Amino acid sequence: MTTKKELKDSVCQAIDRNAERIIGLGERIRRQPELGFKEFKTARLAEETFGELGLKPRSGLALTGVRAEVAGVKDGPTFALLGELDGLVVAGHPIADPETGAAHACGHNAQMAGLLGAAMGLCEARAFEHLAGRVVFFAVPAEEYGDVEWRVQQARAGRLEFLGGKPELLRLGHFDDVDLAMMIHTTSQPDMKKAGVAASNNGCLVKTVRYIGRASHAGGAPHMGINALYAANIGLSAINAIRETFRDEDSIRVHPIITHGGSQVNVIPADVRLETYVRGKTVEAILDANVRVDRALKAGALALGAQVEIETLPGYLPLFNHEGMAKYFLANASTQLGADNITQMGHRSGSTDMGDLSHVMPTLHPYLGGASGTGHGADFTITDPKLAYIENAKQLALMAVDMLWDDAQAAKEIIGAFKPRLTRDAYLTFQRGINKTELFDGAK
Ligand SMILES: [Zn+2]
Ligand SMILES: [Zn+2]
Repeated sequence: MTTKKELKDSVCQAIDRNAERIIGLGERIRRQPELGFKEFKTARLAEETFGELGLKPRSGLALTGVRAEVAGVKDGPTFALLGELDGLVVAGHPIADPETGAAHACGHNAQMAGLLGAAMGLCEARAFEHLAGRVVFFAVPAEEYGDVEWRVQQARAGRLEFLGGKPELLRLGHFDDVDLAMMIHTTSQPDMKKAGVAASNNGCLVKTVRYIGRASHAGGAPHMGINALYAANIGLSAINAIRETFRDEDSIRVHPIITHGGSQVNVIPADVRLETYVRGKTVEAILDANVRVDRALKAGALALGAQVEIETLPGYLPLFNHEGMAKYFLANASTQLGADNITQMGHRSGSTDMGDLSHVMPTLHPYLGGASGTGHGADFTITDPKLAYIENAKQLALMAVDMLWDDAQAAKEIIGAFKPRLTRDAYLTFQRGINKTELFDGAK
């Protein structure tokens, strides 16, 4: 008779036996960074690896997602283990893709190594002979919400509706049979120690903004033009001016970029484009800040007599980590890494589409170390492959054993007591309700 501890040990041993392969996958993905919804090479690698384990993955889900599943010996809940496929554009990253600028500056390559390693460990140790329910191994696209113009084009062409991976997978029903979900994000922040769980993360809205002016000769006849760049400058200044009205406890973050600043230098700019997020701790705080941001943006158009078109897109909902799942993770991390190397934190101001999942099912999004440099920075790199890749695999696999052991008792308890913040239908309705395009004419 195998005990839970023996099963956990044998899963970890199987992962250790595959350590070289798992590290190899993590490094290979680090060197082939791809942007969200275009992670074709990484998705193929996931598909092949699942196939080699005897699984039958489905691919092309929300364009690039790959999902494989294994059932235990008895019916029970379905636990999804996730790895995010995508990188993001970070200027000056030393191993960015020379064509797209994509780089693994958020460590998602470690998530993929962890996901594939967990599948290896659980399959090779024949863990499913001792578990109930099912594990879904899910390589998911496009957590980084960027490349917005391209994604909007895809949406117009009907290839996407939502512009982030998990919202799109939720919409398409690929989480309909999933009862609880987990992934582990890599971190370079020393305050997260070797492993940590935060209570919550910001959610966000995404905005594209276009100032429309009138082109004219910049030297000969600037008085005939309407300078959309100056209108945008005033809009940006106005956003900076309202920052002091944001309450600390709402954790608002507004960080616009200019994606198009003019056509050529001797022409008064007539088309200037911005993108921004409006992030916050609660949906109410985000919506409140969004009204102020819209007003600030309009001020720029008003000052110059330009027009501004403000498109508001659904982003990600705030993340609430499930406390019950966190307890199991912290116990495993403590056993593996030592109690002194584990921490719990309050609110974090970044956003993730795990937040969307956390509104409809028990969800856990802890951190593991193993990286150094600045997240989303050019110096972000994996410095401890054992912690970033191998431990990620072990922690996912250990949670699968915890959740589905003994007739999936733990998973059943967690699911039974969970009150979703939104039903899946209400989630889709809410996100669709965010979509809005407004044209403000500052000349009227
Ligand atoms: Zn990121
Ligand atoms: Zn990330």
